[in-house]
Amino acid sequence: MLGKARRILKNTYGYDSFRYGQEKVVKGVLMKRDILAVMPTGGGKSICYQIPGLMFKGITLVVSPLISLMKDQVDTLNNLGISAAFVNSSLSKEEFIKTMRNIRVGRTKILYLAPERLLSPKFINLMKSVDISFIAVDEAHCISQWGHDFRKSYLEIPKFIEALERNIQVAAFTATATPKVREDIVDKLNLKNPLAYVDGFDRGNLSFYVEKGEDPEKYIIDYLERNRRKPGIIYASTRKEVDHLYSYLRIKSFSVGKYHAGLSESERKDFQEKFLKDEIRVMIATNAFGMGIDKSNVRFVIHRNIPRDLESYYQEAGRAGRDGAPGECILLYNEEDVGTQEYFIDMNEELETKMKKERMKKLDAMVNYASINTCLREYILKYFGDKRIKNYCGSCQNCHVATDVVDLTVDAQKILSCIGRVKGSLGGFTITKILMGEKDKKIERKDLDKLSTFGLLRHYKKDELEEFINYLTSEGYLDQSAGSYPVLRLNEKSFSVLKGEDGILRKKNEVISFDYYEDPLFEKLNDLRKKIAQKEDIAPYIVFS
Ligand code: ADP
Ligand code: MG
Ligand code: ZN
Repeated sequence: MLGKARRILKNTYGYDSFRYGQEKVVKGVLMKRDILAVMPTGGGKSICYQIPGLMFKGITLVVSPLISLMKDQVDTLNNLGISAAFVNSSLSKEEFIKTMRNIRVGRTKILYLAPERLLSPKFINLMKSVDISFIAVDEAHCISQWGHDFRKSYLEIPKFIEALERNIQVAAFTATATPKVREDIVDKLNLKNPLAYVDGFDRGNLSFYVEKGEDPEKYIIDYLERNRRKPGIIYASTRKEVDHLYSYLRIKSFSVGKYHAGLSESERKDFQEKFLKDEIRVMIATNAFGMGIDKSNVRFVIHRNIPRDLESYYQEAGRAGRDGAPGECILLYNEEDVGTQEYFIDMNEELETKMKKERMKKLDAMVNYASINTCLREYILKYFGDKRIKNYCGSCQNCHVATDVVDLTVDAQKILSCIGRVKGSLGGFTITKILMGEKDKKIERKDLDKLSTFGLLRHYKKDELEEFINYLTSEGYLDQSAGSYPVLRLNEKSFSVLKGEDGILRKKNEVISFDYYEDPLFEKLNDLRKKIAQKEDIAPYIVFS
């Protein structure tokens, strides 16, 4: 069964192998099971229903929410020599009649449909007279009110199936679905004993950033200048904002296009095509742009305003790096934008109170994303119910901050044990001398140069070491006695550092110089840092500004 699917993949599409998830899903569809497949944007969902569609007898229906998306897919399929067609409001009467005729005589293998079309009696009658292999529902989250892109017309799909008065296999596909939305899809589409395939949401090649308190326009200009020639998308939440940014960046001579529902169809098409062909470098757009757009070399996605929820954010940000090469996802965070989103929810008269509350909760989760100082990727993955959480990805902004941290635990242990050895009888001045390996009369008289800690930190500069000891004192890792000759003493916190229960991590820019790196121990320290960072409790050790 899969052998034939692989041959089609190779001969018709020209791809050598299925991706891991595709193989599972294709197999499931071929076994005539109902399917819920959650796979990331760019994961190759289309092939999962197209290839079985080609293998089965009869016609495969694909419900898809966007007219532009349908046309692209059908053009692509026709170019591959597959007989595909679409039915939506963009067809002229003649085209529509011709399409229906082709279907009737069995000339069409794959039919893309707008959900609004399903319930027309003519269409239902036609569908009753032909052999339907299965129904694929693309962007299936649109059927759920809990999703981020609810379309009422998607509710016509189950009604349509009912109207056909027979059992029909249904395969639902989406890129973003929280556990709740997943359940809702199964429920609303009435999937029977479905095979659920949920791919990891992680897009390892993307890195995530949140910029707070920046002047957004200045940030964008700086970014575009630093990243010349890289194609990218800038999302803004209103048409007005898109228009404004567009004119502003044009005046500054950047190669930009724009896209929102207020533009004429030909303008939108024109900008979109230029962007796809790399004739325009940056697309400035509302969330109307992007669904189903297959531009693989987008290198960055900047959100000028906070989107309404993480589903939208991850889907839009996920348009970066679809070719697997690095992509940057940057959220510019301003409090006023949160107010705007709240206003949108408040003013939306279509929403019942219950839904408004739900939307607010989702917005909260989005705002929370912008304010946490732990791993951004893991936050997203957790939100989508992905269980493989590490709490440290190493490539988001917050993990970068952690990488900007030096682990000074071992050096701190050396200092503390030196203080412990002299039983709290000396002040910082002499302790520094001992650790630096400096001799003077007092040191020789007291045999302090015989201590095992003598000279242990001689690679430090003297003022650095003094600063470090002061730091430990001010952070409460050491006690200092009062009086004119203050001495240093260990306390409970010192012991937890000595026992390795507590670590001393400092931001690099707080530390006066980086000579520590010459320490042969550095490699080891670095490993230790990573280990510590991977533990869930990294936060208390790091001083974030
Ligand atoms: P999705 O709908 O999941 O976002 P698409 O179906 O649009 O993704 O596929 C994304 C891209 O990946 C397309 O360019 C497609 O041709 C390509 N693709 C899909 N499957 C494979 C495969 N097995 N090998 C190589 N490329 C693939
Ligand atoms: Mg798709
Ligand atoms: Zn991270």
